[in-house]
Amino acid sequence: MGTVTAYGAPAEGERLTRLTIERRAVGPRDVLIEIAYCGICHSDIHTLRGEWGPHPFPVVPGHEITGQVVQVGGEVTLHKVNDRVGVGCMVRSCGSCADCRRGEEQYCVDVVATYASVDQDGTPTQGGYATHIVVDERFVLRIPHSLALDQAAPLLCAGITTYSALRRHATGPGSRVGVIGMGGLGHLAVRLANAMGAEVTVLSQSLRKREHSIRLGAIDHLALSDKESLGSLERRLDLLLSTVSADLDVDALLGLLATKGTLAFVGVPPNPISISALPFEDRGLCVSGSSIGGIQETQELLEFCAKHSIGADIEFVEPSQINDAYERVLASDVLFRFVIDMRAS
Ligand code: NAP
Ligand code: ZN
Repeated sequence: MGTVTAYGAPAEGERLTRLTIERRAVGPRDVLIEIAYCGICHSDIHTLRGEWGPHPFPVVPGHEITGQVVQVGGEVTLHKVNDRVGVGCMVRSCGSCADCRRGEEQYCVDVVATYASVDQDGTPTQGGYATHIVVDERFVLRIPHSLALDQAAPLLCAGITTYSALRRHATGPGSRVGVIGMGGLGHLAVRLANAMGAEVTVLSQSLRKREHSIRLGAIDHLALSDKESLGSLERRLDLLLSTVSADLDVDALLGLLATKGTLAFVGVPPNPISISALPFEDRGLCVSGSSIGGIQETQELLEFCAKHSIGADIEFVEPSQINDAYERVLASDVLFRFVIDMRAS
């Protein structure tokens, strides 16, 4: 394809800057996408700060990508020029292992992440803070027509991550779900669990986002520090879904789980978590975690969102404002997802 404009960090911990990167030529099974929007996920920030281990730099982050197909390879059958499409957190996997065959490509040992990963040809992958991307057609999602491309972008990571975790724990009518952290993932978890028929309560650092939690379908929003109010949830919740990116005293929250309830992690705190074994034995509790969702499940999520009119609550940023946006994400000061308007680059 050639060189394209992108925004990335030249080295670990450095500010993002405008770069020129190379995109591979469109292969027989590749799709060239003109990127319209890319969400800012907290994982982008963890990665650039080196919190998930070393990576070769520069790194162009971004795995909540939506846009339009502008070219397809000769053997492409799943997409055509002008289609509205999206790309999430992965761009390749082996296709033959048990995980891939089960449609859980995210757990394939050879999975290639959309950025900060090494592709089959040995080149580093670069993500969606860019004007264009070339992706194998099997990792390109169809965006239903009723979903706006800007509000759909965060569904490709924040949406599928919470949808998959909620589904895995059989969320539905009659279930009671506590969502910890009302950020990019958290606000979509509230919407999705509500649409699945669950009763949702938000547990947040403060009451600042309370009206938004209620607007998005929660029945209550409590402050994690307010032990008295949390007492009203004692042994009530079937699922506690942590979307928190920071260290959290989860031990103190186990009392909110009903018998055989599950504490599920999708957020990634920086340090190991301490959990006492006793409540797990005494009350049959479970602890679990999950990574995004497979390609087929992501397409299912997009159809579910179209059916229930679910998109992310977004705030637009221009590429020149990404560094400021990162500071605001770190301060939990965004309602609820920054989306970069790549057409402004
Ligand atoms: P985000 O928008 O920053 O949301 C995180 C939320 O956590 C904040 O809005 C805040 O909610 C809460 N929080 C932050 N600091 C806290 C603290 N010190 N104590 C208690 N709560 C705190 O981030 P995100 O993009 O949703 O991502 C959340 C986490 O999920 C990140 O660690 C990210 O890497 C991870 N992630 C995992 C997957 C996966 O596949 N498992 C996929 C995507 C992202 P309140 O303002 O309500 O307190
Ligand atoms: Zn993400």
